[in-house]
Amino acid sequence: MSYPAPWNGINPKADELPEKLITTKNKKRFLARVLVVDDEPRARDSLQELLQLSGYEAIVASGGLEAVAKLQERHYELILLDLNMPDMSGQQVMEFINRQHINSDVIIVSGETTFDHATQALRRGAQDFLRKPYAPDELLRSVTNVLEKRRLQEENKSIQLRLEESESLHRFIVNNSPDMIYLLDQDGKFAFVNERVETLLGFKQEEIIGEHFSKLIFHDDVEQAQHTFNERRTGDRATKSIELRLRCKDCDAPRYFESRSVPIELSSIGIYTISHVQNKEFIGTYGVARDITKRKQAEELIKYQLHHDLLTNLPNRSLFRDRLNMALAQSKRSGKHVAVLYLDMDRFKVINDSLGHFVGDELLQQVAHRLKTGLREADTLARVGGDEFNLLIPELNSEDDARTLATKILSLFAAPFYIGEEEIFVSFSIGISLSPEHGDTREALIKNADIAMYQVKYSGKNGYAFYAESMKHHYSQSLDTENGLRRAIEKNELRIFYQPQVDIQNNKIVGIEALVRWMHPERGLLNPVDFISVAEDTGLIVQLGEWMLIKACRDIRRWLDEFGLKLSLAVNISVQQLETKDFVPKVLKIIKKHDLPRNVLELEITESEIMQDMERAIETLSTLSKKGIRIAIDDFGTGYSSLGYLQSLPINTLKMDRSFVNGIKARGDNSIVNAIIAMAKGLNLDLIAEGVESPAQRNYLKRSGCTLAQGFHFSRAVPESDLLALINDTTLRAKQTPYIKQKSESLFDT
Ligand code: C2E
Ligand code: MG
Ligand code: MG
Repeated sequence: MSYPAPWNGINPKADELPEKLITTKNKKRFLARVLVVDDEPRARDSLQELLQLSGYEAIVASGGLEAVAKLQERHYELILLDLNMPDMSGQQVMEFINRQHINSDVIIVSGETTFDHATQALRRGAQDFLRKPYAPDELLRSVTNVLEKRRLQEENKSIQLRLEESESLHRFIVNNSPDMIYLLDQDGKFAFVNERVETLLGFKQEEIIGEHFSKLIFHDDVEQAQHTFNERRTGDRATKSIELRLRCKDCDAPRYFESRSVPIELSSIGIYTISHVQNKEFIGTYGVARDITKRKQAEELIKYQLHHDLLTNLPNRSLFRDRLNMALAQSKRSGKHVAVLYLDMDRFKVINDSLGHFVGDELLQQVAHRLKTGLREADTLARVGGDEFNLLIPELNSEDDARTLATKILSLFAAPFYIGEEEIFVSFSIGISLSPEHGDTREALIKNADIAMYQVKYSGKNGYAFYAESMKHHYSQSLDTENGLRRAIEKNELRIFYQPQVDIQNNKIVGIEALVRWMHPERGLLNPVDFISVAEDTGLIVQLGEWMLIKACRDIRRWLDEFGLKLSLAVNISVQQLETKDFVPKVLKIIKKHDLPRNVLELEITESEIMQDMERAIETLSTLSKKGIRIAIDDFGTGYSSLGYLQSLPINTLKMDRSFVNGIKARGDNSIVNAIIAMAKGLNLDLIAEGVESPAQRNYLKRSGCTLAQGFHFSRAVPESDLLALINDTTLRAKQTPYIKQKSESLFDT
């Protein structure tokens, strides 16, 4: 806002008024509003006229009292005040103004001329003192001066106010910034830091100001911080962002607890004097420190997830491979072995499918935990697949050490796991490869350990094997097996072979065991050893077993109808079949359909399979037993189990494992065989000796009181057509038919 230049003319004409003061719509805008207070009418009027002509709005009051009344009504920038008035003196009016804090300036225009009057008036706040009679230009100059001074003061006040507002706004912005904002002086000491330092690190601002920045830096990062702050560069490189960890004062807060530091991203800019363009002087550093704790935590988590299995918290495949690489490099220097153990849990799929994924997951966690208890710090155990673990043993002295470790791991699983109500037995198939013998690259070692593991799977599981070149062929075949087996059932490639079970006391065939074969389109007739493990691992065993049961029952019915053959029929079943819900009704339906007599069908299940889920086995087998189905324990004597279970199971027959029969020596220690025979007798169970290959074995068993036997000595497993001939032969032999005798002798006689 600017004022017109003071107007000096004594009798100004209206058309000489400053243009901007004349407004349209007959409304004048004035330079200021002035109250003229004088009891003398002439003086009052002339002042009013003079002021009005000069562009001011001039209101008159005829005495002190009227002035006071007017001042209460509206605001006046200026008062021209007479001192000597009868009703109320000018001094009193001024007192009133001061008392009421009325914001008007006062110029005294008075006949009173004493020094006293003047000083009194000025002390009360009057801006000027003019003596009557006054010179109009002098009066107008005084008015202009006072008003100009007033204007400047007001402007100052408003600037001051704006400054204060803006300052507090900036302070608010700085202090409420999510980041820590700071200023360092040229010595690296804090000249300023915002309030965020308190919430972020627990220090009060006062504690930090004047301190060296290193007070706030986590000790490991001090050097890096030093480097950053010392870089007093200009231009593009003046700003530098780095990640640092800051120290907290009181680290009780959980997020600081672990590291006693807060990771931050720090950007800092050097500050320089602006005056000497050529020779800038460094005066400090301005910077912003951003709390990136959350981001860092997220990064850590992602990093962890990338390298770990989240279920077991074990390293995953990728971390395992890294560690193996390192171990290989190290072993080349040290000349020691590196061992890779490929561990695959036996029958995990069964557990997972039958007991549910919750139990499966829990079991994996417990298994991982138990595996770890057998290891050293330097070993790496990783989970590399559903039920597959890889173990890395760096710095191994000899093959024997690996052997010892594998044995130790297997023994860790002698005790069962308990999950809820379930008691679960677990075993592992372990393949081992050693560097440099079985490969000196990461891939070769893992692959060869895997091949060795497969070998263990196929030869009965629950054991370990070192890799050998000869395993390769078998391995590649086993990979084809899985796909082929799925089709085999649909394409009718499965065959059923029967092996006779013989009463050795009279050499009569009393029963048969149904054994599966696979007529592979390329590989020819395959024995169960080539595919039963795969069938079990893939669950195909359930379909396969059902097919066997149906086919065998149909055959036995037909032989009964056509030839009057009364044979018992043994069919192998796997624990997975037992665990299917409808196993019992299915078996009963098949028996009913073929109208088989009681006790004809005997289901064989191996001792170790029963042990896997004892409770369910007891329940299912008991139901079947009550319906007249016989139960045999296959491969008896090979399980690790206690013998107490024999009493709780509804067993009819024990099948002594062929490894015992195989060990029978004419004058050797046959105590296990003898014990098994005695036990069967004691428990009143039938006993079948499996794998009888020689007359000596047969004779020994016969002498020892074993009644039933099975083995190559009598007959291999043969197709249905051959079996009929075999039985005919035997039956005829009993009738002393010469032709048959000759043939049957080769079968049965010493
Ligand atoms: P297993 O039930 O113990 O069957 C006896 C195995 O010993 C048969 O092998 C048989 O051929 C073999 N064997 C018989 N006598 C002798 C002998 O004097 N010496 C020798 N060295 N071996 C003899 P196979 O047919 O290869 O069957 C192997 C295993 O496969 C069976 O052992 C059984 O556990 C399993 N298996 C066979 N068929 C089925 C089936 O339909 N279902 C299920 N779940 N498993 C089956
Ligand atoms: Mg069997
Ligand atoms: Mg057997």
